[in-house]
Amino acid sequence: MGLIIQKYGGTSVGSVERIQAVAQRVKNTVLQGNSVVVVVSAMGKSTDALVQLAQSISAHPCRREMDMLLSTGEQVSISLLSMALQEIGQAAISLTGAQVGIVTEPEHTRARILEIATDRLERHLKEGKVVVVAGFQGTSNKLDLEVTTLGRGGSDTSAVALAAALKADCCEIYTDVPGVLTTDPRLVPEAQLLAEITCEEMLELASLGANVLHPRAVEIAHNYGVQMVVRSSWTDAPGTRIVSTLEQPDVLQNLELGRPVAAVHYDLSQAKIALLRVADHPGVAAELFGELAHQNLDVDLIIQSIHEGDSNDIAFTVAQNRCNQAEAVATAFGPMLSSLAQVKSSEILPSEVLVEPQVAKVSIVGAGIIGRPQIAAQMFKTLSNLGINLQMISTSEVNVSCTIAATDCQRATRALCEVFEVNCSALNRLSHQNLPPVRGVALDLHQAALAIRNVPDRPGMAAHIFETLAAHSISVDMIIQSQRSRPIGSTITRDIAFTVAAIDLDLAQTLLEEIAQTLEHGEVTADLAIAKISIVGMGMVGHPGVAARMFAALAQEQINIQMITTSEIRVSCVVVAEQGVAALQAVHSAFGLGELDQAGERSVP
Ligand code: ASP
Ligand code: MG
Repeated sequence: MGLIIQKYGGTSVGSVERIQAVAQRVKNTVLQGNSVVVVVSAMGKSTDALVQLAQSISAHPCRREMDMLLSTGEQVSISLLSMALQEIGQAAISLTGAQVGIVTEPEHTRARILEIATDRLERHLKEGKVVVVAGFQGTSNKLDLEVTTLGRGGSDTSAVALAAALKADCCEIYTDVPGVLTTDPRLVPEAQLLAEITCEEMLELASLGANVLHPRAVEIAHNYGVQMVVRSSWTDAPGTRIVSTLEQPDVLQNLELGRPVAAVHYDLSQAKIALLRVADHPGVAAELFGELAHQNLDVDLIIQSIHEGDSNDIAFTVAQNRCNQAEAVATAFGPMLSSLAQVKSSEILPSEVLVEPQVAKVSIVGAGIIGRPQIAAQMFKTLSNLGINLQMISTSEVNVSCTIAATDCQRATRALCEVFEVNCSALNRLSHQNLPPVRGVALDLHQAALAIRNVPDRPGMAAHIFETLAAHSISVDMIIQSQRSRPIGSTITRDIAFTVAAIDLDLAQTLLEEIAQTLEHGEVTADLAIAKISIVGMGMVGHPGVAARMFAALAQEQINIQMITTSEIRVSCVVVAEQGVAALQAVHSAFGLGELDQAGERSVP
């Protein structure tokens, strides 16, 4: 006897027949001895139809009225499903978000859930009823019952939040695909179904454009230890289990707006090696990291900044005790990797290797960083208030890492813990040898790259730039601060590059140009024609050569890498947009993700 939350997406309730099939499945779950709360989306593409309807009346409908309109879609499907259940002899009752008591913040069209009342739900469950709850909606004000919605695709989030509030045994997400795949099967037909994935991995993938799950749903599952499974509503196949690895789930308070940052980590055992002005052509990163992997050197952070002219800078960190060895590799490679123009022209500086034998890496991690640009900005601001200069910045969806001088580490972590109200711990680079180094590959074609050049290299610049963007709700991904410093007059300058969602490009560029004007030699460049390809896997920690294999796969296809960033469990590369799909296919196959061995397990070469 358990309590199960089942969520059915739009296609699963897209017609009368499908609603009846869902009712049957729900009833079977009850017959197996479970209490069931069902969350449904609007039927088929009806939310899209409502959006179109609004647009035929107003080009910019106000967000409150959009919520009033879009929330009706779910009201149709909950009542019909409830009728279908009653028709087959299963007691059921449908409830809107307001009737349940799903309270959200007052942000129309993108509200986060604050709390969910459980008394009415529990009462109906006790009466032996299946409760059918409208997904994607809540109310922001208990008195006025202002209707809010959670953002497109938000029914997943409703379901997992209900599971957390009711402490359900499992949250089952039913959809029209068999579960979570190694990559998008429309682009890579060999994509394989995963039996299991951790919340951390899923969070990265979900926000990287793998559309199976709303990232916020994964965030809640992660924070509150909800056991979740994604499976097909057409078959009885087991689907993909999403496992939460958090030992002690957070207490339920301010559900989605709890602490955005779960922890501050530092690592004082790293050394930084930077190669300046290496050639910007395919194969350079592959050769360098291939040799490092060959020598069994485990590289942690890698960043490569946007190219300038025909050269790039690549910087990475390794364990201090392997610093000399890594430096030797970099030095041996330097001349080979110099660009042709440098070889021809004596005016251009040759490539150069810079070593800093002890740096500190400080990171903030947490599912709540997703979609909240002010968090990274706040981190930069905190460090700049202390006068700490950021050397490298590398970000992923759930992690922002900076390298700073080792002597600044203690001050930095103390301040960050205070600001984000969390504990600090030395980073434990636990290797997960039993997990595959790469679980999935994602392609994001909806990003644009922006760079601001000649930013004075002094504390506070990154904070200023990313605070400005955050104030306009622009989420930034893959922030990269170049290693190369360019003296202009008496000022040392650096470039800062990052990616944003393509739809935010115009606004971000305008804001950046305003900042550039206040700098003496600031200059902004933008590139819409990019693709971001990422590999994700917890098993890559402590597993040398994973990044190298990705770079080699790209090199083999003659695909040039424009930018690189990494987190502990992810490596992302920016390539030119038109090579995105080829890059995805090459990388997916390089990790053997399309092959099954005899036992039906994926083979990891
Ligand atoms: N009906 C809403 C949408 O289409 C919510 C959902 O389906 O999750 O975005
Ligand atoms: Mg959906």
